Amino acid sequence: MLRITELRLPLDHAEAVLRAAVLARLGIPDAALKAFTVFKRAWDARKKTAIVLSYTVDCEVEGEAAVLARFKGDPHVRVSPDTGYKFVGHAPADFAARGRPRPVVIGFGPCGIFAALILAQMGLRPLVLERGKEVRERTKDTWGLWRKSVLNPESNVQFGEGGAGTFSDGKLWSQISDPRHLTRKVLTEFVKAGAPEEILYVAKPHIGTFRLVGMVEKLRADIEALGGEIRFQQHVTDLHIEDGQVRGLTLASGEQIEAEHVVLALGHSARDTFAMLHQRGVYLEAKPFSVGFRIEHPQGVIDRARFGPNAGNPILGAADYKLVHHASNGRSVYSFCMCPGGTVVAATSEPNRVVTNGMSQYSRNERNANAGIVVGINPQDYRQDGKTEGPVNPLDGVAFQRIWESRAFELGNGNYLAPGQLVGDFIKRQKSAAFGDVLPSYKPGVHLTNLADPKQPSLPVYVLDAIREALPAFERQIKGFSMPDAVLTGVETRTSSPLRITRGRDHQSLNTRGLYPAGEGAGYAGGIMSAGVDGIEVAESVGRAMLGLKAA
Ligand code: FAD
Repeated sequence: MLRITELRLPLDHAEAVLRAAVLARLGIPDAALKAFTVFKRAWDARKKTAIVLSYTVDCEVEGEAAVLARFKGDPHVRVSPDTGYKFVGHAPADFAARGRPRPVVIGFGPCGIFAALILAQMGLRPLVLERGKEVRERTKDTWGLWRKSVLNPESNVQFGEGGAGTFSDGKLWSQISDPRHLTRKVLTEFVKAGAPEEILYVAKPHIGTFRLVGMVEKLRADIEALGGEIRFQQHVTDLHIEDGQVRGLTLASGEQIEAEHVVLALGHSARDTFAMLHQRGVYLEAKPFSVGFRIEHPQGVIDRARFGPNAGNPILGAADYKLVHHASNGRSVYSFCMCPGGTVVAATSEPNRVVTNGMSQYSRNERNANAGIVVGINPQDYRQDGKTEGPVNPLDGVAFQRIWESRAFELGNGNYLAPGQLVGDFIKRQKSAAFGDVLPSYKPGVHLTNLADPKQPSLPVYVLDAIREALPAFERQIKGFSMPDAVLTGVETRTSSPLRITRGRDHQSLNTRGLYPAGEGAGYAGGIMSAGVDGIEVAESVGRAMLGLKAA
């Protein structure tokens, strides 16, 4: 199979033109092209009036060796790489009868799902323990917060089957380096579970919330069919560690489970579990993360700014953006988790706190575009002991998040309303009195205020100053970005984990054997795709350890 990269065609080309372009690029007659498939399709919108599609195409041709020889030295015509997934090993048929404890996966978000799936496919029959409910029950609880201001601290946007990414935009791209094509394994499993086939070839695939629900259920069924077991409403509250080796765990019900290989796929909001790990002496360290607000604009403003006359073209869909500004106070401000045609959602898992995030459906056809506008902070910024140097308590980031999430609840006037302000007023440092052209989508609602009130700021002043400087700077890249009526909603505090559960090359905790920290909560992933890939790699290490295979 041959792979052609960077085959560029106009946005609105007819379907047949692609085949003709492949033939022309390879210089072969029609009969010599036996088959071809699109591996990737991206677009280049640098020139808005002449947007170009850029294809990567895999081709089956007659006389492949001769064609390749003609393109020797051309980086854009090569042999297609083998992207199929290779298991590190499989359990022998009598493995279960040997009586070793099953591998345990704590958490059934993208990381836990892929860790459990790979372990199940290797024949290791994992036991999954998830504190939240199964996805359809969880959906009702999540809507309970959005519609009725009722939070269930164990079943919400962060906790439950599918993890934090279930009520999301379902963006599936990631910038991780992927020499083993593990992202392909994730995408292929998603398609088998019901995701649209296009996620395999579009450059920025996304799924949207409704489809994710069904896919998560299908992946659960696949794991169970392979001998895995998935238990919901099973909150792990303690770990049993003897001489630096995991021996088991305790559930909130009091049940104790023997375990020697435990994947910790907790997500970034498992604050009580982080505290338990710290108390048990598991090695943790404070890490940088970011805080800020969600911003909402009419999607049409973003489409026109990004695509000009091609705004609305169905191949391009609703436009996204990615922005960075280095502020004069030394802080970096950037857009985070942009959701085209989506809604801002209430994402707290703790009572009397407000946290924002964004989601969308597959169609991405809601009226507003939203994104986090966040500022990077480091452990020295959020240390809670009043010192200015030295090691930072790994739980200080959680304490810092809680302060601002509680403040947001107060500024929102209670009942999980979020505090908000128009961009024009934020820049002028004045309280907003009424919404303009942009109506915010956050439910249960937005309470207008002054997010930068000097007496009661919604975030640290250096964060507010950096964002105030960044908004007009972003206007230079996206016309309309600092429009006075755009709405800021606060606060966005859970951009990534505030700590790292540090691990070694074998994916085990630095000081606790048998404990495999994984995914976003452990500080090793950020997003659905990277969490899924991390779950695969961690499962491989567990598999190697259990099957007595050599380390990678
Ligand atoms: P999580 O998905 O957080 O899963 C962890 C699981 O562990 C949870 O289900 C939790 O209940 C469980 N758990 C925690 N503690 C315990 C315990 N003690 N016992 C038992 N179970 C426990 N990313 C993208 O790539 N694209 C997007 O479009 C996107 N949109 C998002 C929108 C929203 C609203 C949110 C909240 C996040 C979004 N993200 C998105 C981020 C993405 O969801 C996360 O990066 C990803 O889910 C992390 O996966 P994970 O498996 O590591 O952790």
